[in-house]
Amino acid sequence: MTVFACAGCGAELTAPVSRVALPVQAHQEYGDRYLPPLMEPGTYAVDPEPYGPPWRTWGETGADGAAARGVYAPVDAVSFGPAGHVLLAPGDTRGTVVIPERCDGCCGSAGGLGPNLACAGCGLPVGTRIDDCYRWQAVWLAPGTVLRLPVDGPPAPGAGWEWAGIPPIDPTGCWSPRWEAAVGIALAHVLAASAGARVAVPGGLLTTVFGPALDALLPPGPPVRTLALAGPGLPAPGADVVLVPRHPLTGEVWRPGGTAPAVPLDAEVWAHLAFPGDGARIPATGGLPAGVERDDPLPPSPPSGFRPDRELLLRTLARLPAVREPWLLEVYAEARGRR
Ligand SMILES: [Zn+2]
Ligand SMILES: [Zn+2]
Repeated sequence: MTVFACAGCGAELTAPVSRVALPVQAHQEYGDRYLPPLMEPGTYAVDPEPYGPPWRTWGETGADGAAARGVYAPVDAVSFGPAGHVLLAPGDTRGTVVIPERCDGCCGSAGGLGPNLACAGCGLPVGTRIDDCYRWQAVWLAPGTVLRLPVDGPPAPGAGWEWAGIPPIDPTGCWSPRWEAAVGIALAHVLAASAGARVAVPGGLLTTVFGPALDALLPPGPPVRTLALAGPGLPAPGADVVLVPRHPLTGEVWRPGGTAPAVPLDAEVWAHLAFPGDGARIPATGGLPAGVERDDPLPPSPPSGFRPDRELLLRTLARLPAVREPWLLEVYAEARGRR
């Protein structure tokens, strides 16, 4: 496990935390709604991309300047902040104080003014707390301002490939924001892998969440490529493009056999798609006998069709070098214009 400490005075700034993969919702903004902490207690993740101010417009950076920051298509603003922020739950921080004049946002902090959290011991700005109404609550510790101290702790969980899926509908009866984020990000990769050909999806929930967006975004014509799930516990699908799990702890992407392009998908979303109704991928006892289903209460039914997170789709597309191909740039521009 790791404790992060202030680079200025050495004071410990976090509880002991273990590294996990970056959650798909890290850059999700979700309308006028309060969201829970992004990270599970006792965990942290690292965002490899530049994050936060200063921001420059596309006109200021030009295409080459933006590409040097990992952005390959026009965006509203390019971050010239540092890469490698450490994300953790606000409850796992210790010995920090807010910098009130850096706390923006409508009912919390949105992090738009730069680091708003300082070491209580020496005053060094060490990161940004975000907890405004439309953001996942998190502390983003800035690289260079904290030190990583290894500490003893329980052994890390095994890095096997079995875990439980999460359902696409959350307890409020709405589509899960995490599913919307995961599918929005994966959709960008599927579009790039399609090379502009229409993509056929093999029915069921996979079609519910990917089908309408693929049909709306890809140029018209009969489907000529196929999309399917591939991964641990599934037979080889023989599809042209495969959706594979990204390991929730290590971030490793499952490597399928064959030559079909593999698109990484949030592992727990993947697990629900691959094994729907399978609550038995983690050890458990109790529950209803096999074959018995409840009909009370009725399963929740969201008020509208599933919509992949458009902002994350655009964000991901803009960071794929393939977006510079004219057909995909056109898809990107049209999706951006529809915002
Ligand atoms: Zn300090
Ligand atoms: Zn707010």
